[in-house]
Formats: sequence, C-alpha cells, structure tokens
Amino acid sequence: MNILLLGAGGREHALAWKLAQSPRLGKLHAAPGNPGIAEHAQIHALDVTDHAAVIAFCEAETIDLVVIGPEAPLVDGLADSLRGVGISVFGPSQAAAQLEGSKGFTKDLCTRAGIPTAGYLRTTDQAEALAALDRFGLPVVIKADGLAAGKGVVIAETAEEARAAIADMFGGQFGSAGAEVVIEEFMEGEEASFFALTDGATIVALASAQDHKRVGDGDTGPNTGGMGAYSPARVLTPELEREVITRIIAPTVKTMADEGTPYSGVLYAGLMLTAQGPKLIEYNCRFGDPECQVLMMRMESDLVELLSAVAENRLAAIQPPAFSPEPALTVVMAAQGYPGTPKKGGLIAGIDAAQADGAKVFHAGTMLDGEGTLRANGGRVLNVSARGASVREARDAAYRAVDAIDFAEGFCRRDIGWREIAREEA
Ligand code: ATP
Repeated sequence: MNILLLGAGGREHALAWKLAQSPRLGKLHAAPGNPGIAEHAQIHALDVTDHAAVIAFCEAETIDLVVIGPEAPLVDGLADSLRGVGISVFGPSQAAAQLEGSKGFTKDLCTRAGIPTAGYLRTTDQAEALAALDRFGLPVVIKADGLAAGKGVVIAETAEEARAAIADMFGGQFGSAGAEVVIEEFMEGEEASFFALTDGATIVALASAQDHKRVGDGDTGPNTGGMGAYSPARVLTPELEREVITRIIAPTVKTMADEGTPYSGVLYAGLMLTAQGPKLIEYNCRFGDPECQVLMMRMESDLVELLSAVAENRLAAIQPPAFSPEPALTVVMAAQGYPGTPKKGGLIAGIDAAQADGAKVFHAGTMLDGEGTLRANGGRVLNVSARGASVREARDAAYRAVDAIDFAEGFCRRDIGWREIAREEA
C-alpha cells in the first residue's frame, strides 16, 4: 500500500516511523516532512491548501491512503476533496472536524447527546457575553470559538480579566476565530487525554496520555504546544476509561453519525477528571503532538492496518490495537526563545549516540543545511522518547538520551513525568 503522510512535526515523524514498520507498506511519501521523516519517506514540497495539486500527486504516485497529521487541512476540507475523487483518507471530513474547529459546535453537541462537560454560553454578541459573566462565578473560562493554536483560551481569575478577554476576542485578537466566544464554567480536577479510533460506527480505544503544557519546570511560565508527555495516564483507571468511552466517546460518534456527519479518524478527548467523574474539555480531530510520539512508542499493532481499516470503514473486522504495558515518555527539546520567537539555525549533533540504548529521537523543527548539517528550524525541535518498566525508568532513559544530544541553543524541561513518578513512589 502506497501512503502519503501530510505534516512536518514530531507527530508525523512518529507516525512515519510506525508506518514504516508495517509489512503492508509499499512506498511512503510525505509532505512537507522533515529530516527525521525523510529517513522513512520520500519528501515532496506539496501545498496542502491546493487540493487539486494533492489529488494530482496522489494519482501520479498511485497513493492508496492519505494520512493527514495536523488539524488545519482537516478543518479546510482536504479529506472531503480527496474522498470526492475516490482516494482513501485517514482523517475526518470538514463537517466532522468541527469537533475541533468550533468549540461552540462541540459544546452544543454535548448538550444534544447528554455528554458531561462544563456549563457554557456560546455567543456572537459582546454585550450578551459581558452580561452573562455573573452567572459563571470565578474563575471563568473565556474561549475564542475557532482554531487559535492553543492560545484562544483565557482562564480569568477576576471579572476585570474576564471582561478584558471578551473585549480582546471580539476586538479581533484571534481574527475570525474570535468572532464567536464560548464562556465556560471552570472545572476543577486533573487533566488527561484519551485517544480512540473510529470509522464512524465502530470505536476502538487506543490509549491515554498526559502532557506538560507550560514551558518551565514545575509547570510554570507560558503555555506551549507541549513540552513533554507520557502514556499511559494511570489516573485514568480502566473503570474511568470505560466511563469515558460509554458516556463521552460513544454518544459523540453516534450523534455525529445520526446527524449525517459521521466522524472517521482519531478522536482525541481532552478530559477533566472532576469529583463528579470525567468531563470533556475539548476534542481534537487528530493525534496530539507530543502525545502521538508516546502512543507510537507503545503501539504493538500494525499502524498501516489500523489507519486503513478506519479509512475503509472496516474497523469492526480487525484485531483491536495492542499496546505495550510499559510506559513511554517523551521530552521536547526546544529552541531558545520558544514559545516566543525561537532562535533558528542552532547546531544539533549526537542523535545516533542518543538512540544507542533504545531511545528514539523524533524530529519536529529541524532542517539540513547546504552542508548536510542538522540545525534547528522551529520552536519545538526534537522529541526524545523512551520506554521503561516504570515512568521513572522511561524518564531516566529519555534524559540519558537528551544528555547525549549536543544542541547548545536548545533547552528542555527536566521534570517531565513528575506527577506520575510521585504517584508511582507514593
Ligand atoms: P490546546 O490547543 O492547548 O488543546 P485549545 O485552544 O484547543 O487548547 P482547550 O483545550 O479547550 O483549548 O483549553 C485549553 C486549556 O484550558 C485546557 O487544557 C485546560 O487546562 C484549560 N481549560 C479549558 N476549559 C476549561 C474549563 N472549563 N475548566 C478548567 N480548565 C479549562
């Protein structure tokens, strides 16, 4: 089977690495890719916003399956364009990708399907938003409705902050993503992520994970795309996982199908484990980055078989995915300046040494210069990943690999997994 993988992050390197392990894989192509993905795939400079160009490429290269990594092409309807000409795709339609693309859409779906989530108000009217604030108490959560790269959420501790956030969003801080605002009740609890595959009818569980969003040790400093992650998240016990599937994932998949917008792909549920049980914070319509890296480190199944079964609506007929019970952990190495303006061009060496003991280094923002030297080319640069008998062992193996890497203009957190390790040792 010939596959085209779209994306350029650590998530896509992990997917490429796992796809390449499958005996079912014919040729793997990737666009725009990165030097890590290039170890497994032929790289192409395709513009994913040009759907006709992607279709022409698939026809010329006899692509049997397109795997779409990031959310933007999904929300932009690339999967529909490809399916429209009979090309098989892993990833939801534009209508189904609203689960990530519009927070208000998901909240309204939760209401219709009885899915536990925070109380909310969805509005395009600034005066209505301001008038409603009193109903929510403090803190209160203010969100831009559309995609804002993780930056469109404000947890306001005071009424002044809440009013300012509402004014900023309606004032165009996030462009059209903020033309509609969702105000939410603040939920108290620990966060965890849960991943499932669905072809619109059958659901199969993948695994859970937790990530570290803040840039600094001790979960301090500004938010990032994620500085590290581990899987499984043991706080999501098997009982809680069953509850998440029956009360959150299954009614979502059923309602989407009943309403004529079946969801096909990976459903990534961001959960708050509250005193009243798991509640949905948000959905993403793709794998998490860096959560995908730890899922792939643990996956024992054939990823080509799984993703093609989703794309071809035959998930019910295949073996459920299997994962190693061993935890996996990934440490993100970022370029100095991230999450502000990252310093580009920093030299990177020592990746082979880092991988000598079984750790795996997934590339994100890297490039090869004219001399073939590896350099930083983005905010998050490398995902140094390892497995171990415990999260502590996985963490120790990952940091031994980090320490073998020479990236003077980079940095990483030194405490990835701290919460889970404290629990392991309690
Ligand atoms: P990301 O890209 O980081 O996933 P996002 O922009 O898609 O973010 P959400 O996931 O909805 O937005 O919210 C971001 C973070 O804000 C959550 O991970 C959570 O920590 C916090 N948060 C969101 N909604 C609530 C809520 N109702 N109660 C408490 N915390 C919340």
